[in-house]
Amino acid sequence: MNKPAISFEFFPPQTAEGAEKLIVTRQRLAALKPEFFSVTFGAGGSTQDRTLDTILQIQCEGYEAAPHLSCVGGTRENISALLHTYKNAGIKRIVALRGDLPSGMASIGEFQYANELVSFIRAETGDHFHIEVAAYPEFHPQAKSARDDILNFKRKIDAGGDSAITQYFYNADGYFRFVEECQKLGITAPIVPGIMPIMRYSQLARFSDACGAEIPRWMRKTMESYADDVESVQAFGRDVVTQLCEKLIAGGVPGLHFYTLNQANASIEILQRLGYDSAQ
Ligand SMILES: Cc1cc2nc3c(=O)[nH]c(=O)nc-3n(C[C@H](O)[C@H](O)[C@H](O)COP(=O)(O)OP(=O)(O)OC[C@H]3O[C@@H](n4cnc5c(N)ncnc54)[C@H](O)[C@@H]3O)c2cc1C
Repeated sequence: MNKPAISFEFFPPQTAEGAEKLIVTRQRLAALKPEFFSVTFGAGGSTQDRTLDTILQIQCEGYEAAPHLSCVGGTRENISALLHTYKNAGIKRIVALRGDLPSGMASIGEFQYANELVSFIRAETGDHFHIEVAAYPEFHPQAKSARDDILNFKRKIDAGGDSAITQYFYNADGYFRFVEECQKLGITAPIVPGIMPIMRYSQLARFSDACGAEIPRWMRKTMESYADDVESVQAFGRDVVTQLCEKLIAGGVPGLHFYTLNQANASIEILQRLGYDSAQ
């Protein structure tokens, strides 16, 4: 089977212990030779320092590191400063997002949508960064309509986005349809599926309710029937996600981006089943 490029996403650890564990996770995932590791950014800048520290550490270890940067609640001045910090540190790839305003934070800041952030990055730093943007094959929960959401996605590409990573999904057909609709609008940028391995059903249901990613009814019902039997949920999840990746690879996806939640096992097992070599 063809093996598209892979990448892994982490969130910045909150404790020294979490940071130590993440180093081990990263070493194990690095054996699969990912193109890059990305690190999320708490909207409103809440994780700014931890995102930066984790990114610099990944880079020091000799891997390509891609910080996420969300603009909601931000100012031109602080985003510009962060961009130049990353540029001076030799970072070459950024995942540019709007983010969601944390509760209690009143001001949306100086950017309303991610396309404005992409334009700003290009104006400030020219072609230095490869800019990834977010895409939603099942549509963003706040989108006025499916059509509007695709047109808004196009704005980000037109503003200078080089490629996209999608929200996770479990329905390959929805992804392929989304890509087809984008191509009809002349979008040629690669749209890499975001893959969410399944670790705990309650956690996945919570994420999915918040971000609008659908868990098909047959999956929900099956996982609900396992109740507290985490092993059965995980075994089911690995089968389902491996089959999803097989369909995506057979359909010619340009890459696979894994939402690891800072865990290595599930991603490694799925990728081994797909034929990726994880020998150190
Ligand atoms: C791969 C990936 C990584 C992520 N990483 C993070 C992270 O690190 N930190 C974080 O806080 N969040 C992250 N998120 C979540 C993301 O921030 C949220 O989904 C957020 O609600 C939307 O961000 P966006 O960049 O897609 O926004 P946008 O592209 O701005 O879209 C947001 C909404 O506004 C609409 N819209 C866009 N442009 C316009 C316009 N010009 N006029 C009118 N409507 C418009 C869109 O249709 C959509 O409904 C990530 C999501 C993905 C898919």
